[in-house]
Amino acid sequence: MKQKNLKTKILLTLSGIIISVASAVAFYTIVHEKHQNTLRMEEAYRTVHLNYKETIKEIVRFYTARAYANIHSPQVLKAFVAHDRNRLYQLILPRWKVISQENPALIVMQFHNADGTSLLRMHHPNLYGDPIAAQRPMVAYIHQKHTRVYGFEEGQKGIAFRILVPIFDQKRYVGAIEFGLSASYINDTIYRHTGYDAFFFVRHTLLGNFSNIDQDSSIGNYQAIDVDPKLVPLVKRYQSTCNYLQNCIINEGNQTFAVSMLPISNYLHQPIGAIVFIRAIPDFWDYVWQTIMASGLIALSLLILLGWIISRIYDSVRDKMTFQEFYSQTVLDAIPSPVIVTDGYALIAANKTFLSYFQYPEVADFKQDHACVCEYFQQGDTQEYLMPMLNDQRWTEYMVQHPTINHKAKIIMEDVVTIFDVKLSLLCFKEERRYVVIFTDISSIQSISMTDPLTGLANRLHFSMVYDYMINVSLREQQPLGIIFFDIDHFKHINDQYGHLAGDKVLKHLSHLLQKRLRKSDIAARWGGEEFVILLPDTALEAICQMAESLRSLIAHESFEINTRITCSFGATILKEDEGAEGLLKRADGLLYQAKEGGRNRVIVE
Ligand code: GH3
Ligand code: MG
Ligand code: MG
Repeated sequence: MKQKNLKTKILLTLSGIIISVASAVAFYTIVHEKHQNTLRMEEAYRTVHLNYKETIKEIVRFYTARAYANIHSPQVLKAFVAHDRNRLYQLILPRWKVISQENPALIVMQFHNADGTSLLRMHHPNLYGDPIAAQRPMVAYIHQKHTRVYGFEEGQKGIAFRILVPIFDQKRYVGAIEFGLSASYINDTIYRHTGYDAFFFVRHTLLGNFSNIDQDSSIGNYQAIDVDPKLVPLVKRYQSTCNYLQNCIINEGNQTFAVSMLPISNYLHQPIGAIVFIRAIPDFWDYVWQTIMASGLIALSLLILLGWIISRIYDSVRDKMTFQEFYSQTVLDAIPSPVIVTDGYALIAANKTFLSYFQYPEVADFKQDHACVCEYFQQGDTQEYLMPMLNDQRWTEYMVQHPTINHKAKIIMEDVVTIFDVKLSLLCFKEERRYVVIFTDISSIQSISMTDPLTGLANRLHFSMVYDYMINVSLREQQPLGIIFFDIDHFKHINDQYGHLAGDKVLKHLSHLLQKRLRKSDIAARWGGEEFVILLPDTALEAICQMAESLRSLIAHESFEINTRITCSFGATILKEDEGAEGLLKRADGLLYQAKEGGRNRVIVE
């Protein structure tokens, strides 16, 4: 269950990362594309602008040269000055044929008289003599200024780009020659060079008296001129989307178009409108959608792939871990003593011996009933015995801090006391701590090494360990510690009289008597030979005295298996705060000596 959660967590984290990265990439791509779009639009605008300027320059240069080529012919000038239109027509006609074939957009070639009338229209030879300067500001301008002029202007043939060149006869201004190119020529040139469709929007007021205003193709004061029929729906869409001349994006059909304005001016450099150029652009939101879909798809594929890979890796790692766990458990189970693994607080693992000793089928069952194995630890009679807390430390930590002590645990299960030698190994990995604790049952070794084999009482070794511990406890807890030393009187005689075996029996009998009479907390030990010592914790001198007296009387009245009474001499006292272990023993021994000296079968108390 826990492992499944971990797997889900890993997958969720990864999904989060992939989705974030995909979103960031998508976002960046979109922002970048938007920027690119702007750049592309600016670039297109620059291209068209440059192209327009170059085209105009070229037209002006070319037709100025053509004008001079005509009027520099003396015959032409002569015919013009003489207002001989027939002669002029005959002279110009071959040239007109060539240049109008050369450029079909050339729609106007006209000679203007200085008085403002039209002398000859090569494009319309039958119309002449009309006061054209009155209708055409550019014509009026050149008559007034006698200088070349060019720009867009409306005339009989519609909006055209016109170049007017003055004609002089011996420095006398005699009129002008005009060339006019249909505005669509500019559009076509731009289209040829840039691939963008273009047309003109010009001010109504500049249309003069020649054209009919088509309301369908006007915006505000502006009128569309020379619109290619295929662009009409776009122009209509543009009109309905934008309410004055401006760059904008329009949607027509299923396509998006960028519409850009290039302002144009008349011969006086006054703005008269704009060349509008249109180009299809990929729909930005389409692009956004496609980007999102693409990154979503990539993210999804990555997720599936990574999910699969992680699943595989995870499963193989889990299998390995399962094997490791199985392996460790097998190793633990192979140890015949109880073994646990703990983090210092909770039980993590335990071997079979441990579970069978505590009678639980599984670790989980044990944990349900006990927070710690240390709940079983019993107070021992030496400082080697572990308790849940020692010196304000948890037992595991205490063991780590006190590596030289032979730690023991006393555990009672079903009234059987077991003494364990406890060994601990600490494993540290990063922040994790693992304590491996082995409990070795040393009950039998303990009893062999600590017990006097004849009497079953504690031996001298055991006594000395307990003695030091008790003295420490007594001093710390400020409790009196009583000690009684006693020795069988004239035991030598008993041995001599009844034999050694009988003597042994007496020793056994007496020990049994002793154990029956004492409290559980009292400790009786065979000091050596027929000499005994009793430690009585938390017992005042008076009580010690009574106890010694009571023991003396008990022994003296007891019937042993030999035909004589047994008496003992006693020395009894309690620990003085400043004397220490040695001093107390010496003093108690001294009291016993005094009892012997005083006639035996008596208690001497200090
Ligand atoms: P006192 O009243 O002065 O103590 O006289 P005592 O004879 O008891 O003292 P002593 O020290 O002279 O003799 C002690 C005797 O105890 C000598 C020894 O053989 C005997 N003894 C010591 N250990 C054992 C034992 O384990 N079994 C037997 N049967 N006798 C022992
Ligand atoms: Mg003796
Ligand atoms: Mg003795």
